[in-house]
Amino acid sequence: MKAVMKFGGRCVEDGAMIRRSAKVVRDYVTKGWKIVAVVSAMAGVTDSLLESLNRAEKGDMEHVFKFIEKLKVRHADALKEAVKDPSIKREVEEELEKEEKELERLLAVVAYLREVTPRTRDYALSFGERLSTRIFWGSLRDQGLKSTYLTGWEAGIVTDDCFGSARPIMALTSRLLRERLLPLLEEDIVPTVTGFIAATSDGIVTTLGRGGSDYTATIIGAALKVDEVVVWKDVDGVMTADPKLVPEARTIPIMSYEEVTELAYFGAKVMHPLALDPAMKEGIPLRVKNIYKPSEKGTLITKVESEGVVKAVTMIKDAAIVTVSGASMVEAPTINVEVLRSLSEVGVQAIMVSQGSSQASISLAIPRAMLDKAVKSIKRRLGGEGYRIEYEDDACVIAVIGAGMKGTPGVAARVFGAVAEENVNIRMIAQGSSELNISFVVKESDGMKALKALHREFGLSES
Ligand code: ADP
Ligand code: ASP
Ligand code: MG
Repeated sequence: MKAVMKFGGRCVEDGAMIRRSAKVVRDYVTKGWKIVAVVSAMAGVTDSLLESLNRAEKGDMEHVFKFIEKLKVRHADALKEAVKDPSIKREVEEELEKEEKELERLLAVVAYLREVTPRTRDYALSFGERLSTRIFWGSLRDQGLKSTYLTGWEAGIVTDDCFGSARPIMALTSRLLRERLLPLLEEDIVPTVTGFIAATSDGIVTTLGRGGSDYTATIIGAALKVDEVVVWKDVDGVMTADPKLVPEARTIPIMSYEEVTELAYFGAKVMHPLALDPAMKEGIPLRVKNIYKPSEKGTLITKVESEGVVKAVTMIKDAAIVTVSGASMVEAPTINVEVLRSLSEVGVQAIMVSQGSSQASISLAIPRAMLDKAVKSIKRRLGGEGYRIEYEDDACVIAVIGAGMKGTPGVAARVFGAVAEENVNIRMIAQGSSELNISFVVKESDGMKALKALHREFGLSES
């Protein structure tokens, strides 16, 4: 049996957790499994790399040195705890030192030039995974396993050059992954691969988007046609809501690929939205499990007919609404196209689109950070008069998800009824054509009320 196992940031947040995760791999290998390990950066490291890039861009050299110092201490401490064998430890130490020097040089150059390009950003972000995965590799060997360390690109993941959210060139990637990883598995070696990062065919480092280690795992899983991709987290599985927001949330035992894709798209951080795609194409089951409870089943994601109407509720905070209205009925279709085009020109992806035909208006929910860019671009493209652009910057998007909604009458009435009972005003509504979701926008300060009301309404808190 073959599996890819992905260890998220919390599973490698310190030396003790790395050791715990490495033991999980060892237990599976002992039972006869062949494992590829995919590793995220230690919790918080990618965020701190981003922050240090921002500071470096402002020329703050002092921050760069302080940051590198902290990063060194954190990884050295983790190594001490995760690897006991002195010679393995020394070997990892040397590798960490090389990586840390390279990162320090890079950040110093950024601080000197006061400029960060998307390409430099991806290069800098790659160090989070490069450091954590080195320690993980040492820890596996410390547990008596054979292991080879590989960056995403050394493993064979080749992407386009869309820095920040690069996409794999699948045919080539799959072939390379098979050529490079299968021989290792044959020899009972655990390939230990950095999640999140890859490279273009010219060898330029790219990242797969935030949370991209999930995606790395399923890309590899699909290429090697493994029996299962196991995603280890600090939660019991995919839950009826984010347990940090709704403490009564429960674990969902089984879900379809499509349902989890919708959930991820509508903001549930539990999975990268594209990660389901390679697994779905090859029909490979995914399991989301809690690293603290390895014997529990977690959530199985596979091809299933769904039971239950609504399975989960989710929320995207920090959203904004832009409405363009007032065009005449004749102009409306072209205006709508122009609005969407003007957003795509500046790289703004709408979370929701809702179109009113009688009054000729189009409303879009977008990430709040993109509001300024979006409004400017729409104004630029539409030019002068004849329509109005309005925006609200205090919105959040709520979505209810479940394949069982399809063809079930009255779900929307229950959704909006439950929200109305809380006296929450709905500002925009959309339903995915797949009928897997109903999504709507409310004022950010009403978001939690609406989320909790829906969780109750659909009985998600009850076992
Ligand atoms: P990792 O580093 O392992 O990828 P993430 O932090 O990216 O972990 O994802 C796990 C987090 O996702 C959980 O801690 C939880 O707060 C959040 N989350 C949001 N929605 C859900 C959900 N529906 N089910 C489970 N977790 C969720
Ligand atoms: N370290 C990356 C991030 O924080 C990728 C991941 O954790 O999946 O986005
Ligand atoms: Mg994640």
